[in-house]
Amino acid sequence: MKHKMFLKSKKGFFGIPKGDLHAFGGQYMPEILYPALKELEEGYYKYVLKSKEFKEELHTLYREFVGRPTPLIYAKNASKILNNEIYLKFEGLANTGAHKINNAIGQVLLAKKMGKTRIIAETGAGQHGLATSAACAKLGMECVVFMGARDIKRQFPNVFNMELLGAKVVSVESGSQTLKDAVNEALREWSKESKNTFYVLGSTLGPYPYPDIVREFQSIISKELTKQTRKFFKGNPDIMIACVGGGSNSLGFFNHYLKSQVRLIGVEAGGRGSGAGENAARMDNKNAHLGIAQGYKSLFLSDKYGNLLETYSISAGLDYAGIGPQLAHLKEIGRIEFLSALDSEALEALQFFAKTEGILAALESSHALAGALKIAKSVKNKKIIVNISGRGDKDIFITAKTLQKERWAEFLSQEIYEMQNTLTPTKGIQK
Ligand SMILES: *Cc1c(COP(=O)(O)O)cnc(C)c1O
Repeated sequence: MKHKMFLKSKKGFFGIPKGDLHAFGGQYMPEILYPALKELEEGYYKYVLKSKEFKEELHTLYREFVGRPTPLIYAKNASKILNNEIYLKFEGLANTGAHKINNAIGQVLLAKKMGKTRIIAETGAGQHGLATSAACAKLGMECVVFMGARDIKRQFPNVFNMELLGAKVVSVESGSQTLKDAVNEALREWSKESKNTFYVLGSTLGPYPYPDIVREFQSIISKELTKQTRKFFKGNPDIMIACVGGGSNSLGFFNHYLKSQVRLIGVEAGGRGSGAGENAARMDNKNAHLGIAQGYKSLFLSDKYGNLLETYSISAGLDYAGIGPQLAHLKEIGRIEFLSALDSEALEALQFFAKTEGILAALESSHALAGALKIAKSVKNKKIIVNISGRGDKDIFITAKTLQKERWAEFLSQEIYEMQNTLTPTKGIQK
């Protein structure tokens, strides 16, 4: 690697603009939000980076509420078939089912230290909203989650669970009524209410200092790994693989290994194919352009005028047009390689690891597993660690519909039939 690697941002940016190289990140926000971002930056330094007491409290929460450390599992059966040593870091065993709680509980604790009483968050599929709702319940904070109206309809189970955890879910009716509109609405609310309100952002993106804050909280994953691998082998693994949406699970998983020689691989959503709107792969994609959106400069899937394109993936968590600025930088300087996996490849990997290892991975994480199946064909006897960012229970509505359509439809219609019988038994008589 000939270029300087940024482990954290400098003045809010990752990378030095020079020749073909760019500086990604920044703070491209309306003026009115600068005081809130400044206060957040100060809180981040004072508590997250400098306070021993904060670190101890966070670790107690990680241990006693989140259920950390999550296990590192030697995938013995898969290893034999794939002619490599495969290990799985199982973030899916964390409370609420994915790595997102690592960041949510950290930010909510920070909010509390900063004297805030109310939390707002955006959510797309609902996973970040769910984690934030749980963190707020645990720490006794009021929680408001902004969610696109279309997403609310599509993701009823997560909306139901967020409300069960005591959060208020606000339907966003503007624009395409999806994640990016929910982000805009949360930012608007924050600019009006920043005195008492803290905005919990869900991935390593958005305006500085969020990409640094989220990476810092998620780096608990790689910190644990540096100890856990000793049980199995000396030194570092050869290859590490993670799926990439905005970048939080991958950066948290790679963080302590960025300066090592380990081969780091990110796997994006290849969706149905390479056409515009058919995937959410931003690296090596002719539709990916340098741009500025939602507060930061990075690579975005956009048309030549810079309008964000619709994206598609079977996994809601990877279905996003932008990529975190630090990942864009690490790709540009050649530190991280990127692959993509199709929906069909992710589904195949999900089934393979379910049958060989007894693990139901989330569809997002199944992309990382699909990456591992590809890489394992080209190498031999390597130590490969795959990050299983979440567990697959949440995906039943998608996986069952895709893999066993008829039986799933029969089950659902039976459910509806029984519900109608119990809910309105007198309907016919009343008329
Ligand atoms: C949200 C999510 C992702 C993608 O987000 P990153 O910020 O890239 O980690 C991946 N896996 C799971 C299980 C998720 O919920």
